This record gives sequence, structure tokens and C-alpha cells, in this order.
Amino acid sequence: MGYILTKEDFDQVIRNLLKSYRIFAPVRKKGAGRFTDVDAVIYDEITEGTQIELEAKSDYSAKEFLLPLSETLFYFTEQEVKEADLDKRPVLFFARSCDLNAIRRTDQIYLANGDARDPFYQRRRDLIRYVLIGCPQSYENCFCVSMDSNRWDGDYAFSVEYSDGQIRSDVADDSFDGFFAQVSGLEKTSISPAYVTENKVKADIPDQIPASVIKSDLWDEYTTRCINCGRCNFVCPTCTCFTMQDVYYSDNGRAGERRRVAASCMVDGYTDVAGGGSYRKKNGERMRFKVLHKISDFKKRFGYQMCVGCGRCDDVCPEYISFTNIIKKVSRESREVES
Ligand code: SF4
Ligand code: SF4
Repeated sequence: MGYILTKEDFDQVIRNLLKSYRIFAPVRKKGAGRFTDVDAVIYDEITEGTQIELEAKSDYSAKEFLLPLSETLFYFTEQEVKEADLDKRPVLFFARSCDLNAIRRTDQIYLANGDARDPFYQRRRDLIRYVLIGCPQSYENCFCVSMDSNRWDGDYAFSVEYSDGQIRSDVADDSFDGFFAQVSGLEKTSISPAYVTENKVKADIPDQIPASVIKSDLWDEYTTRCINCGRCNFVCPTCTCFTMQDVYYSDNGRAGERRRVAASCMVDGYTDVAGGGSYRKKNGERMRFKVLHKISDFKKRFGYQMCVGCGRCDDVCPEYISFTNIIKKVSRESREVES
């Protein structure tokens, strides 16, 4: 059961929630997009409901709350280590099905990939409750249906969905009902979050990718086309790689801080090793690594695909390289080997 709200009602609900929660949601940043006068939709903390962008797909994913581009983990001196402070107030996190399914994958990497759980990820993860953004229609380059991430079957506090000037909200967790009930004149009605059932773009990933595809010359094209800018990694909700940086303070070289900084398998330096060596020097080799990690290697380890089909890598690539076109080529070559 839920409610149909006007924009003003919705703003009132958000005001009620802000008394108890910090809220992170997609926000439109004027003129911050890829081209002049183009907006960007990114995740940010909001202070009023009118800031939340419910209609457009966000350019950057929801992962930046859990995995900031740069995060100080702890401070150190010669004698002591002190964990960096974190705002412990609970967080409401607005995200679409694909992005919630992506967080399921980042949970897998940081919390269930071997015996140890990452405590710095865990302490952020423990703060958040989900608000599901319904998806009445597919966006350009989305292929979530092929990746089985078009629906969210997990827990959420309530859903929101913009339609014909109104916001439809399914209150899944009764403890949130009071935030809606405080708005006068609202009546309960039956609401189900919308989800996409078909995308224009489809991905047909073979069950088995033969070893010959790894050595195939299909990757050579990307050695010249890809300019290793790394944008595809930074927008991807399931890219989780990071590097560590120890920063020593200039006025006391024996004290400093350790930072976790996002890393990209497409940019120079990612595979550098001691002695001046570097694996995967060619951009085509990097592309092969990235693509097979997303549609094969992760599945071999955890039993489901890493890529959620959000299409952001295609949206952002300055060289118009299409991830789903690469999947098509991998599929075709895999089937040729089989037959
Ligand atoms: S965004 Fe495009 S050009 Fe940049 S690294 Fe990714 S595939 Fe290469
Ligand atoms: S690889 Fe591309 S389509 Fe798949 S989850 Fe990452 S950004 Fe989205």
C-alpha cells in the first residue's frame, strides 16, 4: 500500500524524513555535463525534495557514497593509528533497480569475497536504507532486462516514481508510514513500483567463453579506438578497484594519513609492478580484461553476472565504444568455436 503525492506533498514527506535521516539522491547539476550547457545528474546529499531528479537516469552511479573517489581511512603517527571519523547518522539512499542490484555486487566484493569483510565499506553500508526509484521506461543504452537487474527483489523502505506530475510511492516498510501520514489529505492506495520489461538494447552473453576468444584479434580494434581515459570505470556502478596512498604531512614526515582512491583498469599505471614492468600495456588488452571480468570471471566465482546493464559506460565513452557491441562480438566468436 502507498500514496499518490503532489510535488508539494512529496517535499513535505522529505522535510519530515530529513529530521531523522541524511538523504542521498540523484541531483541535477546545471552545466556540469560532458558538453557546454549540458547538465550532469550525479549523487549528492539533498536538503529539500525539489532537488531530487526522479525523471532522468543519473550519469554517475550511486556507488560514490559507499566508495568515494578518495577516502581517508585512518591517520597515523609513529605511535598510533586513528580511524577517520564518519558521520553516523542513518542515510536514506534513492536508487533504481539496476543500481541496487549493483550494490549487491559491491557487497559481494567488499563483504563476501573470502573470510574478511572490509570494515571501511561495512561501516558506510550499515548506515543506509534504500528508497527504490521506479523505472516506468527504459533509457538509451540500458540493457538491464538482459542482465536480470531490471527488478529489485530485496528490501526497501519505500519507492518513488514520477508520473504525470505526481509521485507514486509504495511504502514497503510500515515504520516509514508515519512520515507520509503527517501530510494532511493523503489517502492510502495500492501502488506497485514500475519496472522495465523490455529494452531496445539487448545483450546475449554465452554461457561459456572459449579460451580462444581471449587470444582473438577482436580486441585489437580497441588498442587504437580506446584512449584509456577510464571514464567507463568511473561511471560503472560495479567497478570497485582502488589503490592506496599514504600521504605524509610536509611539516611532520612521520605522521600522515592513508587514503583509498578509486582506480581504473583502463588507465596507465594500473598494472605497473616493481622493476618497471607493466602488464596489459595495450588498450585492447585492458578492454579484454574489463569486459571478461564483467561478463565471465565474476560469474565463474560468484554464480551471477557482474554487469547490471545500466549502459552508463556507453553513455559516457568519448570514442563511442559500445559495451553491448563488444558482447555481440564475443558471443559470435564463442558460438563459431562451439559449432
Ligand atoms: S570510456 Fe571509452 S575511451 Fe575511455 S577508457 Fe573507457 S572504453 Fe576507452
Ligand atoms: S559495464 Fe557498463 S553497462 Fe555494465 S554495469 Fe558497468 S557501466 Fe553499467
